This record gives sequence, C-alpha cells and structure tokens, in this order.
Amino acid sequence: MSVLTRNEAQTRAQLLDVHRYTVDLDLTTGEATFDSTTAIRFTARTAGDTFVEIKPETLRSLSLDGQPLDPERLDGNRYPLDSLTAGPHELTVAATMRYSRTGEGMHRFTDPADGETYVYTQLFMEDVQRVFAAFDQPDLKSVFDLTVTTPTGWTVLGNGVSTQAADGRWHIAPTPPISTYLVAVAAGPWHSVTTQHAGLPFGIHCRRSLAPHLDADADEILDITRACYDRYHEKFDEPYPFDSYDQAFVPEFNAGAMENPGLVTFRDEFVYRSAVTDTERQTRAMVVAHEMAHMWFGDLVTLTWWDDIWLNESFAEYMGYQTLTEATRFTDTWTDFGVARKGWGYDADQRPSTHPVAPDPDAVPDTASALLNFDGISYAKGASALRQLVAWLGEKDFLAGINTHFSRHKFANATLADFIDNLATATDRDVHTWADAWLRTTGVDTLTAHVETSGHSWNLTVDRAGDRPHRVTVGTYDHSLDTHTGTDQLTLRDRFDIDIPQDGTPVTQPGHRPDLVVLNDHDLTYAKIRLDPGSWDTALTHLSGIPDPLTRALVWNTARDMVRDGELHPTVHLTAARTHLPYETDLALVQGVLGFAATQIADRYLPPQDRPTALATLTSLCRDLLRRTEGLTAKDWEQAPGTTTPGSPDPGLRLIAVRHFIDAATQPDAIQDWLREGTVPGGPELDAELRWRILTRLAVLGATDETAIAHELDKDPSATGQEGAARCRAALPTAEAKAAAWQAMFTDDTLSNYLFTATAQGFWQPGQSELLHPYVARYYPDAIALAARRGPAIAEAAGRHAFPAHAVDLDSIRLGEQALTDPALTPALRRKLTDQLDDLRRALAVRDAH
Ligand SMILES: [Zn+2]
Repeated sequence: MSVLTRNEAQTRAQLLDVHRYTVDLDLTTGEATFDSTTAIRFTARTAGDTFVEIKPETLRSLSLDGQPLDPERLDGNRYPLDSLTAGPHELTVAATMRYSRTGEGMHRFTDPADGETYVYTQLFMEDVQRVFAAFDQPDLKSVFDLTVTTPTGWTVLGNGVSTQAADGRWHIAPTPPISTYLVAVAAGPWHSVTTQHAGLPFGIHCRRSLAPHLDADADEILDITRACYDRYHEKFDEPYPFDSYDQAFVPEFNAGAMENPGLVTFRDEFVYRSAVTDTERQTRAMVVAHEMAHMWFGDLVTLTWWDDIWLNESFAEYMGYQTLTEATRFTDTWTDFGVARKGWGYDADQRPSTHPVAPDPDAVPDTASALLNFDGISYAKGASALRQLVAWLGEKDFLAGINTHFSRHKFANATLADFIDNLATATDRDVHTWADAWLRTTGVDTLTAHVETSGHSWNLTVDRAGDRPHRVTVGTYDHSLDTHTGTDQLTLRDRFDIDIPQDGTPVTQPGHRPDLVVLNDHDLTYAKIRLDPGSWDTALTHLSGIPDPLTRALVWNTARDMVRDGELHPTVHLTAARTHLPYETDLALVQGVLGFAATQIADRYLPPQDRPTALATLTSLCRDLLRRTEGLTAKDWEQAPGTTTPGSPDPGLRLIAVRHFIDAATQPDAIQDWLREGTVPGGPELDAELRWRILTRLAVLGATDETAIAHELDKDPSATGQEGAARCRAALPTAEAKAAAWQAMFTDDTLSNYLFTATAQGFWQPGQSELLHPYVARYYPDAIALAARRGPAIAEAAGRHAFPAHAVDLDSIRLGEQALTDPALTPALRRKLTDQLDDLRRALAVRDAH
C-alpha cells in the first residue's frame, strides 16, 4: 500500500476537477464483506496520467467512459489512469470490500447483549479507500450521492437526509462539495430520538441495548446541541452548511468523535450506562460543541493539506470550550481545560517528538506523517494559542477575521497563510509576526515571577525563558481571617494585565507585597509558571483557600510540572493533595489532581518501595472525601444532573472518591464487602461500572478468580461486560493468566480494538513487576510485528495501553531504544514508542533528582 505524498496530491489537484461520486453499497452479502460500486464524474484539465485509490478484498471490474479496464492492474491501493485525455470522464469501479474490526473503514459490530449487528464508517485520512474508490485527498471536494442496501429492519444514516425507497434500499440526499475523508454511513437497527431545530431535522442514535440510557439523557444532549447551534449562528455569518444534524453513538469507536458533515459519530461510552460525574457530562458536552464547530472549520472550509490539521483541531477545541461557557450550564469549562487538556499539550511540547502548532509543509510530506500530528500540540497547545490570540486581538476582531475566512473559502480549501491573511483584514495588529512566534515554533516558555518590596510599594519582574510575546493577568491575594469559622482564607486584592517581555522596568504596585502573586491568573497564556518563593509557600499551604477554581488549576499545574521537572519532590505534591483536596469544591480539579497523583506519582515517579505508602495516603484522602460527602439520599443520586441541593454534598465528588479508593486499595477486605453488599456504605449502590472496577482491583490483588469473573459476566453480558471480563482476566497475578492475555493481544488478529485495549489495561500492573518482567523484553518485537500486521489503530492501542509503562529502569529504556532502530517499525508505533520512552526517561530522572 502506498501513502499519498503532498507532491502527488498537488499534482493531482492541478490535473483533476472532481464533480460527483455515485456510490452504491450492498450490506447484505455476508458477515465478512460487502459490495461497493462507484461512479466518479470528473474533468481532466489537461491530458495526463494519474491514479485512483481503493483497498478492496476483490476488485471485480472497472470502466472508463464505458470502456472496460483490467482489474489486474491494481497496484497496492492504486489503480493507474494513464493517458487521460483532457475533458470530462466517468470512471466506474465495482469491488468486494472487507468489514473491519479495528474501527477503521467500515467497522462491523455484533452486540453481545442482543445479537443485533451495526456497521459504521470512519473514513478519516485515507480509509475511504476501504469502502469505495476515490481520488482520496482533502482538496478534491465533490458531491457524494450514496445508496445503501441493508437487511430488513435497519436504519441508514448518512451525511444528508436518508429515505427508504424500498424495503432495505436507502438513498441519502446528495451532499454539497465535501472532502473524501468526511463521507459517513452508519447502518443498523438504531434506536433514535429525533426532533427539529431551526427548520432542520436533528437526531441522536445508539444501538438498541443502550436505548434506556440514551433516552434518560436525550433532553440534556439535545439541549446542548441546540444551544451550541444557536450560539454558533450568533458568532458566524455563514449558516450551518448541511441539510440535517445527526449524532450517532457508535460501538468500538477509536477516537472521541468524528466531525462527518451532518452525521457526527461518537464513541458510545458517551451514552452512560453507569453513574458519572458532572465533569464527565461536561466533557461529553464539550465534544458535542467541538464537533459542531468543525461543521464550519473543517467541513465547510477544509485544510488543503494535512500540515494544517491544527486549523481544524485547535479551532474546534477553542470554540468547543468557549461556546460551552457562553451557551450552556457548563460555565467553568476553562478550569477543566487547564487541568485535563493543557498538561497534555505541555507534556507533548517537551518531548523530542514535538513540532510547531503549524508545522512546515515539508515536515508533513505524506499522510503517514500527518497522522502523527493528532496530539497534544494540535489540540491543546493550538487551542491555548488561539485563546491567547483572542486575548491579544479582542474577540470582535477575531470573529470578524474568522467570518472573512469562511466567506472566502466556503465549500473549498484553505491554508495557514489564508487564515492569517484573513485575520489580518480585521485588525491593525501584526498577526503575521504573532503567528511566526506562536505557531511556527516549538517548546514551552517559562515565566518566573520576582517580587520585592520597595518602600510603600512592591515591584514585579518577570523572567522569560523562551521567545514568545505573552499578555497575562496578574492576580494578587492576601490572607484574611474568616471570623465565623476562624479559618485563614486568601482574598483577591487586585488583578492587572501585563505584557511580557516587559519594557525593562518592573511593574510597581502600591501597598505592602501581597501574600500571593499569581502570574497568568485566568490562564490566558500557554507557559510554565514559577511563582516567587514567598508566593509558593503561601500557595502550598493555602491552595484550597484560593477563591477562583481557575487560579487553583493554575497553581496545581505549576506543582505538576515542577514535579515533572525534578524541582518538587513527588511526596510534596502528594501531601498537598492530601491536605487540600478534601476541601476542594471543583470536581474537575479533584479528578485531575487525583488522577496525576495515582497514575504518575504513585505508579511511576516514586520508587516501588514507596508505593504502598503513597497508596495509603490516597486511600486515606479518599476516606476523607467519603466522610465529607456522607448523608446523600437515594433522591440525591437520582437528581437531574447539574442540580445539586444547596448545602448538600456533591454525588459526583463521592463517586470520584469511591473510584479512587477502589483503584488504590492495597487490601481486598473493604471493597470485597462493598461488592458483597452491592453498595458502598452511605451510597452509591454499585452499578456495572463500579462492580467491574472492584473486580479488576480484586484481580490485581489476587483476591478473586475465574469463577467470580464468569459469574459477573453472566450478570452483565454486554460489550462493556466483555471488556470488563477481559481486563479482569488479564489482571490476575498468575503466569497462566498473563500468558493467555499476551497470546490474545499479540496473536489473535480477530480481536477487536476494544477487547485489545481492555486486555492491555489489565495486563500491566505496577504491583506485579516480578511476574511481568519477562514480558518487557517480549513487548518490542511482538508489538512491532502486530503493528505491521494490523495497522495504525491497533498500533496506537499497542503503543498506548500495552506498553510496559511501569518498568522505570535503564534496561527497559535500552530495550526500547534498540527497538527504535528496527526497520520493520511502522510510523504510528514509532511515534508512540518514542513518546513512551521519553516518559520513562523522565520518570527515571524524577526518581534520581531526589
Ligand atoms: Zn476535532
């Protein structure tokens, strides 16, 4: 198979003008394959040679302008079209195509809960070739006209409105011009909730076995959808460009969601079977808002080549968070962004694999290299850069520039240069220079505050390591005694904006020096922050007393990257968490800080002999949170999301404490009691997710067995139950269990992407290093062979979840470095391994620093 290069795409875009794909898919031909017939109408601007792509099981026939072509001439995924004459042509291609089990192309899934089958497409980047023949590149936009034949009783969803012409014969309304990677079909006996909004049909869909769970949240999902839709119409001059808006929650989906025009696909874990926190509901809402932003940025105006994926992703990410705060009940999204997303960007930006937000086009020579840029840089750093741009330009000018961009390039393609030129039309500021500094460079600046008293005033000087201009807010805080409770609080004294670099003179403020000076209060820029020593002492001792959650998020992020940089002992971070989280009111903060403490500090940054103490600290912290959330009634647990009773504890906080208590348990007794009783004392009652979580922990501790796992699977035979059982079985601390799990992951090529991931998640456990030691060396050759056989999605899962992340030692790093020289290594796995090895080196450096 050949990957498309940028040069080839440019040559083909100059030669061809593609008008219309008429595609006929027959999904009734068996469980392994389906039939695909395509007619492509296009014009060659001059005479020339080119090719069309397809990855068939069998290429049955082709014809050009009515003349048959020889199917044998297919070369990998390319069929040559030599000596095309100038003028209009029609190419027809008939092929048998294979369903996938990896979430790529046409994924086929049979629901173990009821035996119903569903298929859906994920055609991103170059997987349209797994479904029909195409000139597959983003700047050859076309009309797509699809017909789909299905078994009786199915519904077909597509980019346009679908109608059933005859039994099982569905036609999807032709699209406006869109890119090949954005075509989508989802077919099966879907459960649907439909409505109308702004004159358009809106629908949400999921597999039947999840129907009650979708129905329970349908109002919430549709309300957010409508609110975002209306808000985008206030911001954007171009109306929504498609004829309907469907959101399908599909099984075994690899990403969070995909922005297909008129048919967004989501992973169906977003249809909650079990209790979730309000932060998790906010994440789902954010994904809804993010994907809808893509209808304009990505779908209406599309990148010309894949070097500009940040134009899609940074914009959707920024708009998603911002629009949610403006239009829905989730008004505090930037705290979650600070805690959950920015760290992803900072981490990626400090690795050897970092790249500019907008890479040089030559750095993305083909689709395989483009795929590697779907990372923390393109999403989180890019969105942070846009947020800084809005702070610097003002929102009015920013939106004016965006609207110029839409109107100039609608139903077509654009580049970074176009985007910057269009922004420049709306402002006097020098956006080209800004873009060079922010989008064309790599790495994180560090801003360090120096505070000194000078008579009756105090001075602030900021050192900058790095070259970017920043506009930041400085917040100043003083101690105050709460006379009611007798507790020591921090009160905001003042906030002011400064530009960095400063003009050579420090900022002078009247009065005594504040007890706490926070650089980048409001978190409007992207930089590592170091407080002055006095402020840092105040922050560590009074973190939970800082009034604004976004400020607390910034301080927690500072602590996080000080640990990662070896400047703060991991135990100090853990102690701060132990001290302050019991008083934390923001769920996203509790979730984010506890997650870092558990998976990084306890599992990796502390040496193994210190892990039991760290886990004991975490469980006692969770016991405190459980005590703080006592007294919830059954009614509180059932209450509509986002409506807590004033003064009563937050069920979401209790749920986070329960989950972390289970995961950190070093003794089985307490959680075994919970499982037997079916409830945590004082609630919640255990739902399927919590039962599987407890059973997984018991498996890790060797306190359960195959009989109990099989019994649990009988009670929950759903797809999630199958994953739970696979995770438990792989977690059991026996040589047989580990051998069976390894065999499944690395030799069973029919194992689905989801069952692979669940098995891998159970397999590696930080407390089982002796048992797992032989697998560290086996991992590299086995993963390299697997990635080459099964493609990018499984390579990603093998690199992310099956990697020996707890083997923090030089031997393990050496093995990994050797593996990087293996010529059989695929690009997707190479990138994953490069990043994982960097994380191992960092963990080792953190251990060595103290
Ligand atoms: Zn996106």
